[in-house]
Amino acid sequence: RTVRDRLAAGTPVISLEFMPPRTTNDADRIRRNVRKLESLRPGFVSVTYGAGGSTRDNTIDVAAWIAQDTTMLPVVHLTAVDHSVQELRSFAGALADAGVVNVLALRGDPPGDVTGEWVRHPDGLTYASELVTLLREHGDFCVGVAAFPHRHPRSISVEGDTAHFVAKCRAGADYAITQMVFDADDYLRLRDRITAAGCDTPIIPALMPVTTMKTIARSEQLSGAPFPPHLAERFAAVADDPAAVRALGIEQAILLSQRLLAEGVPGLHFITFNFARATTEVVAELALATS
Ligand code: FAD
Repeated sequence: RTVRDRLAAGTPVISLEFMPPRTTNDADRIRRNVRKLESLRPGFVSVTYGAGGSTRDNTIDVAAWIAQDTTMLPVVHLTAVDHSVQELRSFAGALADAGVVNVLALRGDPPGDVTGEWVRHPDGLTYASELVTLLREHGDFCVGVAAFPHRHPRSISVEGDTAHFVAKCRAGADYAITQMVFDADDYLRLRDRITAAGCDTPIIPALMPVTTMKTIARSEQLSGAPFPPHLAERFAAVADDPAAVRALGIEQAILLSQRLLAEGVPGLHFITFNFARATTEVVAELALATS
């Protein structure tokens, strides 16, 4: 069972992203909310990888639990930060042992800094494309990669970013997931660029429904990309009314999902921040036959 197979089925795949737990309470909440979202019949559920591998064991634990105790397909995010090639190989082995064959291969950021200088481990990797190759050589993994509608914050040009993305796909990526998208046109411009470069790797847009004003600030901090000014204005106008902010956020996420589906996206990837309600409300409006 792989993401590749799910995407090949041709119907848009709903996927969910969770973060690894830091405490036992967190772990219980994640399991509860993953369970709640099981009824959406997601095509896959991804579990992120803490900066510098800080929550690596927790990432594997959650993914192994999803593989063994639920009907859902886990995807593990893996970054090259602070890891030697040897460590990455042994982590790949541990994943295979836990029954996880779906990996999102990322270079990662220096801990605590999405725009700071990248520092390679002396025996490690420099680019995500090398991690794709390592996973491909190691075993029968289904490998996803990251895509950036506004180009990667460290890329100096859109053209260079496009060329590197295409090279990463050619190294053996089965699909890509974007940085969070708030405006469908940002996604469509990325897709057009990649298609024009002769690459047909499926690119799944990621969505993060805005539920509080803080989510907006957090999105910019996490992605290094600007929140669309026309939307920021609409949220600012209701900033004093938390219920109105939430209602606008859900409405916008529904409209964005509908537009992206109409544009033929292979799936919609929801960043949940380990909550269930907002994603459920958005997906309920989409009238999708999920796989
Ligand atoms: P790369 O593809 O290696 O690109 C990094 C930079 O190098 C880009 O500017 C690229 O253009 C450039 N580049 C690539 N190849 C070359 C080359 N041959 N020559 C010159 N330049 C080149 N981070 C986490 O820590 N944990 C997570 O779980 C996590 N999940 C994520 C999920 C998604 C969907 C996304 C979009 C991001 C995620 N991130 C996560 C953040 C990600 O690790 C960072 O954005 C990181 O800075 C870039 O990773 P990458 O895999 O795109 O790197």
